Amino acid sequence: MTGKVYLVGAGPGDPKLITVYGAECIKKADIIAYDRLVNKELLNYAKETAVLVYCGKEPGKHSLIQDEIHELLVKEATKGKMVVRLKGGDPFVFGRGAEEAAILREANIPFEVVPGITAGIAAAAYAGIPVTHRDYATSFAIVTGHGRAEKGNDFLHWEALANGIDTLAFYMSVGNIGHIAKQLIAHGRNENTPVAVIERGTTVNQRTFTATLSNIDEKIQQEEIVNPALILVGDVVNVREKIAWFEQMEESIR
Ligand code: SAH
Repeated sequence: MTGKVYLVGAGPGDPKLITVYGAECIKKADIIAYDRLVNKELLNYAKETAVLVYCGKEPGKHSLIQDEIHELLVKEATKGKMVVRLKGGDPFVFGRGAEEAAILREANIPFEVVPGITAGIAAAAYAGIPVTHRDYATSFAIVTGHGRAEKGNDFLHWEALANGIDTLAFYMSVGNIGHIAKQLIAHGRNENTPVAVIERGTTVNQRTFTATLSNIDEKIQQEEIVNPALILVGDVVNVREKIAWFEQMEESIR
């Protein structure tokens, strides 16, 4: 009998932020293929006999490339195994989950998608920043900001992002913050718009820096930001001054 593949969102970092269903899938899995951003504590839910396969991309370590991941999912499910493909945040937000689902459909392998809490919303919340707010933001966009004009891969519709959307969450963007800020200002966003950079959001190592579009680049150069980190742009960033909560919370009360 054919097995099944579960494309599971592990949530943004805090291991408690996985869904009940996601945790159930991990508990039952025969094979767990997990990404770099997945909190390893979640693997403690796995059965003793479960096979854990690391799929992240880190220099110097063996890891699977996307085609190999596809092969693994198909091969193991064909053998009748219950396979969990565990991804950081949500599997369909910059997670290539849809590509994997399409391969599985082609191979006639049953699958389910288990959504997870995406970093753009969760890291913001843990930094005391609501992505929408009755007074400051009625729209929110999730954006990949890694494109660079000089490399010819900046495909963003800057005019629309700068003028049409109140809150912008830039993923995969920290090395590119200067370009992002410049483009937003050049396309009409006020240079005093507040910006937050949230490093390792929702984990005990979370750090948040705030500045404005005009000086965020400089500020970020001073701090050594490590990945993963998220950039939030919009007036909602100021709400943090009133309701920041996580970074000052005592670990013992959780
Ligand atoms: N599927 C994931 C996103 C994968 S892309 C999700 O839904 O969250 C990887 C990018 O996500 C990183 O470059 C970073 O911008 C963001 N990210 C993921 N986890 C994060 C975290 N704990 N804190 C801040 N940003 C994070």
